[in-house]
Amino acid sequence: PDAPRQDFIRQIVRSDLAEGRQQTVRTRFPPEPNGYLHIGHAKAICLSFGVAREFGGTCNLRLDDTNPAKELPEYVRAIQEDVHWLGFDWANLRHASDYFEVFYLAAEKLVREGHAYVDDLSAEEVRDHRGTLTEPGRNSPWRERSPEENLDLLRRMRAGEFADGAKTLRAKIDMASGNINLRDPAIYRIKKVPHQNTGDAWPIYPMYDYAHCLSDAIEGITHSLCTLEFEDHRPLYDWFVDRVDLAGSPELLAPLRERGIDDAASKPRQIEFSRLSLNFNITSKRKLMTLVQEGLVDGWDDPRMPTLQGLRRRGFPPAALRLLADRVGISKQNSVTDFSVLEGCAREVLDAAAARRLAVIDPLKLVITNLPEDHAEQLVFPNHPKDESFGTRAVPFSRTLWIEQDDFMREPVKGFHRLKPGGEVRLRGVGIVRCDEVVVDGERVTELRCTLDLDTRPGMPGADRKIKGTIHWVSALHALDAEVRLYDRLFDVADPDDDADGKGYRDHLNPEAKRVVRGFVEPSAAEVEPETRLQFERLGFFVADRRDHSPRRPVFNRVVTLRDVWAR
Ligand code: ATP
Ligand code: MG
Ligand code: MG
Repeated sequence: PDAPRQDFIRQIVRSDLAEGRQQTVRTRFPPEPNGYLHIGHAKAICLSFGVAREFGGTCNLRLDDTNPAKELPEYVRAIQEDVHWLGFDWANLRHASDYFEVFYLAAEKLVREGHAYVDDLSAEEVRDHRGTLTEPGRNSPWRERSPEENLDLLRRMRAGEFADGAKTLRAKIDMASGNINLRDPAIYRIKKVPHQNTGDAWPIYPMYDYAHCLSDAIEGITHSLCTLEFEDHRPLYDWFVDRVDLAGSPELLAPLRERGIDDAASKPRQIEFSRLSLNFNITSKRKLMTLVQEGLVDGWDDPRMPTLQGLRRRGFPPAALRLLADRVGISKQNSVTDFSVLEGCAREVLDAAAARRLAVIDPLKLVITNLPEDHAEQLVFPNHPKDESFGTRAVPFSRTLWIEQDDFMREPVKGFHRLKPGGEVRLRGVGIVRCDEVVVDGERVTELRCTLDLDTRPGMPGADRKIKGTIHWVSALHALDAEVRLYDRLFDVADPDDDADGKGYRDHLNPEAKRVVRGFVEPSAAEVEPETRLQFERLGFFVADRRDHSPRRPVFNRVVTLRDVWAR
């Protein structure tokens, strides 16, 4: 795991440093606070923070808050929590809105130098002038306004003199460019909407393509890592960075220096990589928002959700998400990652990290008739079969136990090696029991009456007697009643976004994705703190629910089964 990662981005960074094109590495992770982060963002976080860490550099967390209508402080808080939870920390926490004054001064510079103009066309007219992939666009009739007139109009836009949508500031590039992003893209639009950070200070807001690259330059970012859909925007990114030239224009940064923000501005380089997509899932904030708003899931942190809050509540350890990011790797090839890869990462991390406990989630009573009514003893169990550092614990044992319904078959099928009438099975850590009698209520089996072969108890001469099946159990006298939430994949088709069948992703929700049952857990399982991850032997990995678990009212979520039950 500590071998140097060799993807193309790290190779670029390595050679930039080796050949002296950069002295240091500065990256950033720039989420828009318009929703919760999801598993795709984990890939971007692991990359930008990871590259900075590996090369002795720094990474900023920048909230890309240029679109006030959709952004909330709630999301800003959750994003910070999620990045920390994933195991990363930022050098600086910034908001794109911290730079509004700089963006504005830079826009005045572009206007003065003839690189931008105020356009009076409506949004619809602008669209109409833009052209298509095969046809060039047409110049706006306002394109040849003088710098003086443009500067006056821009200042009046900033002063709030014009109505929403009445004017835009546009870059003067090339309406015939083969790259539509370069056909005089908007820089500022008028939007009299209060902003979560700047209140009503601004009646105009910068566009993403303008604000993003300048934010990178202000912060001295060296390598600006983003997903492939921005590849066609890179010429525009470079155009703004070069024309504004923050590194060579310290006067534009004066408003920040007054506020104690004094980064050395850079000429950043944008590098694109492919997004993470997971099958049986969606990774779009907008669609995840719809699931929440329509009540199709129980909120952003519903354990079925691929949000970081959901994955956390489900019990996925952050190390499993970092392992996933490593496994998937970084490339320019778009591909879909199988959900089982994530589950495999969770199993691998949890197998090493989770203590073992006994629990029964579909209970059937088993009475050991040859033990006295009041028999009670403490058995010593190792907490981890492969790691002694986990220590041991006492597990109470008594005459009446719960076992899983599944571990008994009245009419056993061929190859069934667990308990059957007249048959024998090993009770984990106890010894071998024989089923003498099956108590029924109509069709339903209500109790098994068994004898324990006392010669097979630990330390006895027959303790190693060979027998095919071993099953788990809890003492009915001591076990605690627990709510157990069994989770599975959110969607029941690999590509819920595929509209070929005329259905949307909402129609492909997996009705089996959440099942709540009552089970029994050994006392030491109930005692754990919320968010403790355990393996319930033979059942899977579980976590004590972050919000609802308490020792008096235990609640466990299943993270993942022990084996891949979806594999065929
Ligand atoms: P969505 O489309 O879900 O709204 P977004 O790209 O608009 O996502 P941002 O908040 O802008 O969300 O994303 C922050 C950063 O995370 C961006 O640099 C973006 O490229 C990256 N990112 C977003 N989704 C993924 C993904 N699925 N895989 C990898 N990186 C991603
Ligand atoms: Mg975005
Ligand atoms: Mg988005």
